[in-house]
Amino acid sequence: MTSSLATVSYIGATILFILSLGGLANPETARRGNLFGIIGMAIAVLATVLGPRVTPAGIPWIIGALAVGGSIGLFAAKKVQMTQMPELVALMHSLVGLAACLVGFASYIDTSTVFPTEAEKAIHEVEIYIGILIGAVTFSGSIIAFGKLSGKIGGKPLLLPGRHMLNLVGLLVVIWFGREFLHVHDIQAGMTPLLVMTVIALLFGIHMVMAIGGADMPVVVSMLNSYSGWAAAATGFMLSNDLLIVVGALVGSSGAILSYIMCRAMNRNFISVIAGGFGGGAPAPAAAGGAAEPQGEVSPIAAAETAELLREAKSVIIVPGYGMAVAQAQHTVYEITKLLRAQGVNVRFGIHPVAGRMPGHMNVLLAEAKVPYDIVMEMDEINDDFPKTDVTMVIGANDIVNPAAQDDPTSPIAGMPVLEVWKAKTSIVMKRSMASGYAGVDNPLFYKDNNRMLFGDAKKMLDEVLAALRG
Ligand code: NDP
Repeated sequence: MTSSLATVSYIGATILFILSLGGLANPETARRGNLFGIIGMAIAVLATVLGPRVTPAGIPWIIGALAVGGSIGLFAAKKVQMTQMPELVALMHSLVGLAACLVGFASYIDTSTVFPTEAEKAIHEVEIYIGILIGAVTFSGSIIAFGKLSGKIGGKPLLLPGRHMLNLVGLLVVIWFGREFLHVHDIQAGMTPLLVMTVIALLFGIHMVMAIGGADMPVVVSMLNSYSGWAAAATGFMLSNDLLIVVGALVGSSGAILSYIMCRAMNRNFISVIAGGFGGGAPAPAAAGGAAEPQGEVSPIAAAETAELLREAKSVIIVPGYGMAVAQAQHTVYEITKLLRAQGVNVRFGIHPVAGRMPGHMNVLLAEAKVPYDIVMEMDEINDDFPKTDVTMVIGANDIVNPAAQDDPTSPIAGMPVLEVWKAKTSIVMKRSMASGYAGVDNPLFYKDNNRMLFGDAKKMLDEVLAALRG
């Protein structure tokens, strides 16, 4: 393939990636967006492999690597459960970071490129230094995020004494070694500052994500998504590959926008998320004058009574959460929805921006079950409608419907906007026990007079409700 044909293919792939991002912004066009992304990526890989920079001797290596990587990817995608997707995504981000590090070291020790001027050589070295820095932070941060999302590492933030000072000292050392790196004259001498910086960056990535509490994890996931984009862009600079720079910048900036949206959804400031410590995993003690611990009796309800309440209701709002994903109850939820709608009940879904374990988690599940998009509402669109609603059905959700976020200033999730399900005439919470959610906070909703608890696995309980409705 000639270099001009490769450039045209890269431009085509870039346009497809932009169309893909545009498509993914809306559930109705998401499939098309995904398809654009797949075609764009296929063109990008083909144009690179067949392009002028790959020698025929390199092709078997590339095909071998594609076969190994592709098989692992295919196996992982087939085997992974929907509930494990967030962990898988975190692991993928870590691979982008690792790739940036490896490419950085490889291009540093590669002596085949001759730079016409000292300035160009210095620019290339800056690219390598920054590329490895971003890559190492992304790699170790994503591995810790993987541990936290899969429950292998606890959600409680690790708050080292003087942690901000530690980070600052680390940054200064990285800058100092960066200066050293640019001044050395041979590769061997340059390896020391490069390795020291890599170790500090790896430690910083671990420290940064370890310091973040459970409730802030959504922001961390989107932030690491953004970092992985910048790591890919840095790799593009090191390899002088324009497409990788553009794609990396697209992922980096869309991840940054997503982080902003997540921060807004949780009423959090981005800097304080990075500084860590929020959502400590244990309920905070109620301060003088603050709201007390939830108290009282919970009122259980049976599936048959739930069906009765639903049948008599004029309007119903369903609020799904992480437990619906665990139970894979979305198809039964839609069966119930169809049945109630056929009987004239106004059924809608209320989606919290951080419900589940990844951005858009609930939308993906409901789309999979073919729930029509026009009855799936964002939190802001539906929150005012709860007082006019007869029954809200909370399916495996907990933190996103916790009134303590509004009522208890000492709560670790204080200030986070929540779906006000308790304002409906009756709320029914479907979960297996009284256990807390991801943020580890007690939920006073369970004890409210108009709340009923339908204990059990969400799929099993909903099957019973469906059977009762049909009966
Ligand atoms: P939560 O984690 O707060 O609560 C989920 C509830 O589901 C649990 O209390 C659990 O209770 C119940 N549950 C689990 N399995 C089942 C089952 N099989 N059947 C019925 N119930 C079940 O989830 P939410 O969606 O309410 O909130 C999301 C939380 O995750 C927030 O704290 C958010 O910050 C965090 N998070 C979100 C991310 C995102 O990007 N969306 C990323 C990372 C974290 P029980 O065990 O009693 O059944």
